[in-house]
Amino acid sequence: MVQRVVILGAPGVGKGTQAKKIKEKYGCIHVSTGDILRNEIEHRTVLGNKVDTYVKKGELVPDDIIIKLIKKKLKDDSGKGFIFDGFPRNVVQAEKLDGILSNLGLHLTAVVLVNVSNEEIIKRISRRYLCDTCGPVIIENNNSEKKCSNCGKKVQRRKDDEPETVKHRLKVFENQTRSLINYYKGRNLFKSIDGMGSVNDIFQRIETVLDVIQDD
Ligand code: AMP
Repeated sequence: MVQRVVILGAPGVGKGTQAKKIKEKYGCIHVSTGDILRNEIEHRTVLGNKVDTYVKKGELVPDDIIIKLIKKKLKDDSGKGFIFDGFPRNVVQAEKLDGILSNLGLHLTAVVLVNVSNEEIIKRISRRYLCDTCGPVIIENNNSEKKCSNCGKKVQRRKDDEPETVKHRLKVFENQTRSLINYYKGRNLFKSIDGMGSVNDIFQRIETVLDVIQDD
């Protein structure tokens, strides 16, 4: 079954974690624009230097930069589809995506909105750290040395996960990304799910949606 999916939701709702599980189950490519940009920044590439300030401040990177990345990434699709995580972020990006797909004779098969309250998001992000080896990990409050619970290495907080920047990112979501819900809402492919519970509980809800909505 080909999946061409957008996972939507505010920062910290668990889009990345769920997107990885979708990739594992359905074999599609995982395209996280946030991960791509962080990688470019870390390697100090020309693109990385261009987007660094936007990402640090929690502002959206200009649409033309993002669209170029997406076009490039879609070339990696071997026919099993993709899961977009963190893209689109506004209606302009969503319209461009529809145009790109339609030029390829394709269309989205599902848009899944994950709902979590802002209080819970702030709680989750305050415990979220990055491990060089394991990626994003949750660190319990009593882990004062901030070591990865999987491999024991020291972990760091994402610069844009500092509390003030998180509040700003939530505002950016409300002002720019929430309008996407109306953009997709009228279509059959749009489904909204509860993002509370364990990773597996949430994945089960997503699977139910993806297994029902089928391509053509
Ligand atoms: P994320 O990891 O998805 O929370 O993204 C981290 C940051 O990367 C965002 O706060 C933006 O600065 C930037 N970013 C990621 N995806 C996009 C996008 N589709 N459009 C514009 N900026 C983006």
